[in-house]
Order: sequence, then C-alpha cells, then structure tokens
Amino acid sequence: MSIWDAEGRDPRVGNAMIFDALREQHVTPNGNGWRHELKISSDKRHDMSGQYEAFRAKIKAELSPGSKTIVAQHHASDTGTIMKLYISDTNESGFFDSVANNGVFDVYVRMAREDGSGEDKFALGTITSGDSFDLHVINNYGKVTVTAMDRTFQLDVEDSSEAYFKFGNYLQAQIAETGKNIEDKDDWEAFYADAGITESVVTFTDVFYTRTIGY
Ligand code: CA
Repeated sequence: MSIWDAEGRDPRVGNAMIFDALREQHVTPNGNGWRHELKISSDKRHDMSGQYEAFRAKIKAELSPGSKTIVAQHHASDTGTIMKLYISDTNESGFFDSVANNGVFDVYVRMAREDGSGEDKFALGTITSGDSFDLHVINNYGKVTVTAMDRTFQLDVEDSSEAYFKFGNYLQAQIAETGKNIEDKDDWEAFYADAGITESVVTFTDVFYTRTIGY
C-alpha cells in the first residue's frame, strides 16, 4: 500500500494518520463528496478469495453535526460495495440514533449479501465528535470479518476480481434529513458550507495492515 495520498503528501504525523476531507478536497469519478484516502494501487489488486488481509486501527472522528463519512472499505473492481464502515449523523433508519443533525453519529457497516442480491446494514454503536473507537477488519480468503464497539459482523464475499481495501475520510455530499446526494461536484463546496459542515477530520492511530497473497 502506498503511504502517499492523492496529492502526493504523506498523511502520517508522528504515530497518527490524519485525513482531512475539507482540506484535501480530492474528487474521483465515482465518488460522492470530497475525500482524503489511502488505497491499494490498481496494479496490486487481487481476488478476495486469493488473499488474507488484516487491518486494525484506532479511529478518532472530529466531524460537524450532519456529516456522513466512510472511513474504511473493501471495494469491488466495479463500483460495488463489499464492505463499508460509516460514521453518520443522518436520519437513516435502523440504527441506534437515526436522528439527523443532532451531533450523535451512528457507526454502522454496510455489507454485500452473500447471494449477490443487494446489501445489508448493521449498527455498531454511536459516537460524538472527538470520540474514538477501535476497528478490526479481516479478509480471510473471502470471509470478511468486521469488529468494532464490541460487535462483530461477517460475510462470505461473492468473489470479486481486483477488489481492494482502502481507508481514510470519504465525506459524503448528502443532505442529512433526506439522504439526497448532491450530484454535481461543483456544488459540493457550497453544500458543505450551507449544511454547516466545517470540520471533517478522521485520525487513525496504531495502524496495522498486513496482506498475504496466495496460500
Ligand atoms: Ca444523529
């Protein structure tokens, strides 16, 4: 994994990796918001069932109320989700808080169904801005396990060629009350300002990542 972010900067500061989406403002073709990230480079990606990966980190989120961000994910080679870990202050139903803009962030994981029929969401807990939690993700040759906040969820991945792991701060340009995405990237800056999203810093400490390709 390259340690350099999209702008060629090293996000490590001492023992911490600091991802500031509002400062970095990185845009990708399929993204829905400004991001600051690290990812496995495209020529280093492999089938999920052909590799073992373990990732763990302590994650601190300093986020304005109404923010929604992804902090870690396994991404399929197309734009599909395998696993995404969200921190979200929206009114999306089914979580512990599910109230928009109150400064209580639902932490949840979204996972592809094993039969390929869609995705499910699983609540992990809640945090407020400035809180930290430990995240542990394992891909054991296609069996993905996510553990955080004393909860564990697991899935057998429908195999995906050239899947890859990435993490950082994928700040969403999404209206907290309605879930509506702001489609045009040229509107994102005004959207964040209007929504009062002035802080979006995700800090990873005690980061560990290892990968074994093949058996
Ligand atoms: Ca909330």
